[in-house]
Amino acid sequence: MMDKAFKVLKKYYGFHSFKEGQYKIVENILQGKDTFVIMPTGGGKSLCYQIPAVLFHGITLVISPLISLMKDQVDALKAMGISAAYINSTQTLEEINSILDDADIGVYKLIYIAPERLEFEAFCRALRRIHISQVAVDEAHCVSQWGHDFRPSYRNISPFINSLKVRPVVTAFTATATQAVKEDTVKLLGLNGAYFYPISLHRENLMLNVIETEGKEHKVNFIVDYLKDNINNCGIIYVSTRKEVDELYEYLSANQFSVGKYHGGMEDRDKNRFQEDFIYDNFNVMIATNAFGMGIDKSNIRFIIHYSLPKNIESYYQEIGRGGRDGDFCQCYLLFHPSDIALQEFLIKGSTSENRLQIEMSKLQAMQEYALYSGCYTNYILKYFGEPIIKDYCSTCSNCINNKELRDITLEAQMILSCIYRTKGKYGISVLIDILKGYTGPKIKEFNLNKLSTYGIMKEYNIKFIKDIINTLISQGYLDRKTGTYSMVSLNTKSFNILKGKEKLLTRIVAEESIMVNDVILFDILRRVRREIAAKEKVPPYIIFSDSVLMEMCKELPENHDDFLNIKGVGEKKSIKYGQDFLNAIKLYKTSKIS
Ligand code: ADP
Ligand code: MG
Repeated sequence: MMDKAFKVLKKYYGFHSFKEGQYKIVENILQGKDTFVIMPTGGGKSLCYQIPAVLFHGITLVISPLISLMKDQVDALKAMGISAAYINSTQTLEEINSILDDADIGVYKLIYIAPERLEFEAFCRALRRIHISQVAVDEAHCVSQWGHDFRPSYRNISPFINSLKVRPVVTAFTATATQAVKEDTVKLLGLNGAYFYPISLHRENLMLNVIETEGKEHKVNFIVDYLKDNINNCGIIYVSTRKEVDELYEYLSANQFSVGKYHGGMEDRDKNRFQEDFIYDNFNVMIATNAFGMGIDKSNIRFIIHYSLPKNIESYYQEIGRGGRDGDFCQCYLLFHPSDIALQEFLIKGSTSENRLQIEMSKLQAMQEYALYSGCYTNYILKYFGEPIIKDYCSTCSNCINNKELRDITLEAQMILSCIYRTKGKYGISVLIDILKGYTGPKIKEFNLNKLSTYGIMKEYNIKFIKDIINTLISQGYLDRKTGTYSMVSLNTKSFNILKGKEKLLTRIVAEESIMVNDVILFDILRRVRREIAAKEKVPPYIIFSDSVLMEMCKELPENHDDFLNIKGVGEKKSIKYGQDFLNAIKLYKTSKIS
């Protein structure tokens, strides 16, 4: 069964391996077990129910809370060649009926609906005619009133499922669940002995920076400098009040920056226009209050700047969680000034009922503690959410990077070297990392690499850190690159000194250029090709390909369709549909460089 899942992964999505947790989750769903998944934003939840949907007979009904999200997901599925539709209040009864008729004769693999639909008995009756093999509940925490986005109509899901003649597999997905919400969700959705896959909420591609500022002017100067250095990148600037949004927007647009704005006091029409333009890459930087972001699936957000202190760690983590959904790095800057605290206190007091005030104030206290923390920010957040910490330092936060002390990384180096020893140096760095992180991919399965004692031993470490250590080992002569290859490494006599504990490896953690576009000009050309296709197809550019796929193209410089299909993130349908346009652009660029 999982062979088929791998085939779907390659054919439609163009991916070579599952991300953490996906393999097990898909396997369980395919075995017909109810499943509850907590995975951070960008962790890859959609694919977990979509791949079973493709393989199951009948339809997968996806319950999703937001119209914009539904449309996005359906567009993305269609672009990959998976047949899907959505039903929501923007459609006429006729349109809805025609979709239901098509569903009845098996036209679709997935149908997305808003939970409110289930309040209509006629609609439920129509659904009962259809063979539903899976009900997937996205943003499942909405069912719990203890969660922060309670949606009463989520309570209709369980009775609806019980009214079906044959009970489908029920799966539920969320990125935010405390213990209370988790128990509530499982109960209210009526999950049967649900398989639960716990995945750390740690997002290792978020680079956490806190900048202690001298006040407003300093903050604005920081932003101006940052935007100048990141002229082609998309980002969000979160600001506490509507007035500040307007001011910053005026100032930055007067200075010719490509910006937009969003806050609760604007007309719906303007809000929608700005939101849409942001999603379509028509401007780069959104300045907004925390009203902006729910349902934004834009994958290429490269920076998130907080102009002042957020009200709690939960909101902060949710807001920065909108960055780097494509898995590439996102720089997060918290611009802090002590007067931010008084402002937040004022805002909290104005919007919180008496009985919650104490709780909100202590949450703000933790946020303030974070801003002033001198240890590892990554670990502060993990500890806050009750997750095991990674180690006493990371390589992705400004405190760890600015710390000039030498760190002893002998233990980590030993883990890596013994993995190379056990695999006899047969694999490249990316497979080594898959083994150390405990990932599942075809190579891992084929050669039983998951049976190695080093499989998954560096699960808690982030990929960048592991790569950094490998590079340190190479540069300090403890590891050789195999001649004639770029990514293969082999042990030498010095490696064994480390392995036997005769020598120690010390290093200073350094910041690295975060975005790995090796050819900015070509990247820009490919972005333009993508934008033209997207405009023609009337979908956001990231539905065509994400930034990381374009970066792969810049690196691999595909010359023909086979090369193109090999790019990570290119499936069969997209290769046929869009391949030629990109191949032509790359060819033209290469010849123009030679001549
Ligand atoms: P979530 O719903 O958990 O926030 P998504 O399902 O939207 O996350 O996926 C986030 C990103 O990760 C998407 O750009 C998706 O294409 C990518 N992704 C998902 N699974 C894989 C995989 N196995 N390999 C590479 N990229 C993946
Ligand atoms: Mg999602």
